[in-house]
Amino acid sequence: MSRFLRFSLVLAVAAFCAIAQQSDLKPTVILISFDGFRPDYIDRTSSPNFHRFVTEGVRAKAMYSCFPSKTFPNHYSIVTGLYPEHHGIVSNNFFDPELNETYNAFRDIAKETRWYGGEPIWVTAESQGQIAASFFWVGSEVSIKGRQPSRWKKYDHNFPNAQRVDTVLSWLDLPASIRPSCITLYFALLDDAGHRSGPDSPNTMFVVEQADSVVGRLIAGLENRKLLDKVNIVIVSDHGMSQLSPDRVVYLEDYIDSTDSRVVDWSPVAALIPASGREEKVYDALKNAHPNLKLYRKNEIPELWHYRDNPRISQLLAVADDGWTIARRRSQRGERRLSGGNHGYDPRLPSMHALFLARGPVFKQRFVAEPFENIHVYSLLCKILSLTTAPNDGDLRHIMNILR
Ligand code: AMP
Ligand code: ZN
Ligand code: ZN
Repeated sequence: MSRFLRFSLVLAVAAFCAIAQQSDLKPTVILISFDGFRPDYIDRTSSPNFHRFVTEGVRAKAMYSCFPSKTFPNHYSIVTGLYPEHHGIVSNNFFDPELNETYNAFRDIAKETRWYGGEPIWVTAESQGQIAASFFWVGSEVSIKGRQPSRWKKYDHNFPNAQRVDTVLSWLDLPASIRPSCITLYFALLDDAGHRSGPDSPNTMFVVEQADSVVGRLIAGLENRKLLDKVNIVIVSDHGMSQLSPDRVVYLEDYIDSTDSRVVDWSPVAALIPASGREEKVYDALKNAHPNLKLYRKNEIPELWHYRDNPRISQLLAVADDGWTIARRRSQRGERRLSGGNHGYDPRLPSMHALFLARGPVFKQRFVAEPFENIHVYSLLCKILSLTTAPNDGDLRHIMNILR
């Protein structure tokens, strides 16, 4: 076969596949997380691709994270529709008194099924005959209710972002019988930049533009496949980012003796487990200890945070004000980062607001939604995919107005 003929044949096959793909595409959603992306980043940069979502889709004024505004609880709330008190991943680090074990998001123990309650969207999709695929998401590496996404990846922080996009696009090129309709995709670059240099730094804005080109690559790939107006894309973040300062630090050992209490999570929410018989001592020592530290017994935690109903939530919670750090003076352990950025604070603070953008056939165009909680996203994904929801804390009625 001549080179020209071979080339023509390849083109013809590609065109045929593209047409087949357009005509047999089931309702599809790509859920993308840009960890730590604060919604005001969009207005402070040119980011043409994020702006395309604003003009051609839906933008929420804010999305509210669940408390605490940390990565693991929130990613898992977004895909289950459950508050952390109900799905069990109550922070990145916590102690389970019944299991007598400590969860650590960044260790292998986090890959054990027993921590994960509720039903993530990929389990809902797969158990109702659809195909799910995940290019990273909290929980996707774990068997939950006996299932995982048909395709999933072991988390690799340094895996190139462009290749993540290309892999997702290649999944859409699969034959219909094995093509996923429910896809998740995760990027850490903005959380990294926000922690390193803070939410207001030029470097973080530079990284927003990098994230924008990642989205541009996805849009171009979908356009080439004539799929841009057929696929629903939902872009979220798990929380915002606040500027820290070495002038805004509360040192716990200035008030309590380290032998009186175990601290399982440090900053900006310190989860304290007082030694037996020393609860009152620790409480009295920390209550009103510092003007920028609020102390709550479990039954005093603000109702709005929905953060009481789980034995993994510790008896005492010390919560720092926006931009403050809880630290230990001398130890190697505990929070050592006193500058740059952090999150974990009250989700209603503007600095903690999370991102919600959406575009695709089900979504209105140029629509600005009032702020809503991230627990409603699960119901939205189920609606797009015509799935029956598992029991959850969200309610589609809160965001029904973003749909056409
Ligand atoms: P943090 O800022 O401490 O709440 O956590 C952010 C970090 O979580 C990111 O830098 C990632 O390295 C990590 N991370 C996010 N998703 C996953 C995942 N699915 N598996 C393991 N680590 C993850
Ligand atoms: Zn995060
Ligand atoms: Zn972070």
